Amino acid sequence: MPAFAAGKLQVVATTGMIADTARRIGGDLVAVKGLMGPGVDPHAYRQTRTDIVALTKADLVLWHGLYLEAQMEEFFHKLEKRGTVVAVTDTLPKALLRGHDDYEDKFDPHVWMDPKLWVFVAERIRDALTEKMPEAAAQFEANTVEFLAELNALSDYAANALTSVPQEARILLTAHDAFGYFGQAYGFEVMGIQGISTESEAGLNRIGELVDMLVARQIGAVFVESSVSDRSIRALVEGAAVKGHDVAIGGELYSDAMGAEGTYEGTYVGMIDHNITVISRALGGQAPVRGMSGDLTVGS
Ligand code: ZN
Repeated sequence: MPAFAAGKLQVVATTGMIADTARRIGGDLVAVKGLMGPGVDPHAYRQTRTDIVALTKADLVLWHGLYLEAQMEEFFHKLEKRGTVVAVTDTLPKALLRGHDDYEDKFDPHVWMDPKLWVFVAERIRDALTEKMPEAAAQFEANTVEFLAELNALSDYAANALTSVPQEARILLTAHDAFGYFGQAYGFEVMGIQGISTESEAGLNRIGELVDMLVARQIGAVFVESSVSDRSIRALVEGAAVKGHDVAIGGELYSDAMGAEGTYEGTYVGMIDHNITVISRALGGQAPVRGMSGDLTVGS
């Protein structure tokens, strides 16, 4: 039996997106601790001593997998022997995953960028919670139904807001390649200065190539990310200015971490709503400034 107070199932999750989803589905019956807060880069994160204590004591550990938590991979494989560890992407059909050149036989991990793919993750979390607390199956199922309805609404909102962006402006240039699934879902060409992971820095050649592309294609806006340094994006903007082309910073996107805790942007739905709304508006589309349900913080 769990050695924790109040009989709640003790869950530890790596990313904020997983923690928020587990809270939605678990409701009052679970206590969820998220390891990676706002602005934290999961590609680079290493477990702290405090994390290790929490991870070994938890009833259930939810990690993303697909090599997202590259520095913690080995640790999780060791922990798997305890039977408390679930990689929440492990039931996603391989046919829906994007391969990439950075690592052979590996997939792009950024599946949260398409709410339709996040449905699989939510169902996986429901099943993992149910296995640990079968007596709460009906409650977890009811919470999941409610959450999936929101994901559905989010997908519909995204489709509307993003198809309003003029065809020639559907180019999303960000600090790293986190938006591949977003591009695939909504018909955007997606480019990152760094690759799928943030582990290696972009070279000057890469910056030079992208500056030439921005100028040639008259791209009006590029985006910074909350969990990646904005240095290389600013280098792009300056490089384009030297060549006489003005590029705006279209806003800050939540790529691999959510917004501040306790805010709408600090939830999975709010994070994605923010990204969709900011991208649509910066590239000439039509979306309400406060987003899908009027909850977005304006001027942040
Ligand atoms: Zn990433």
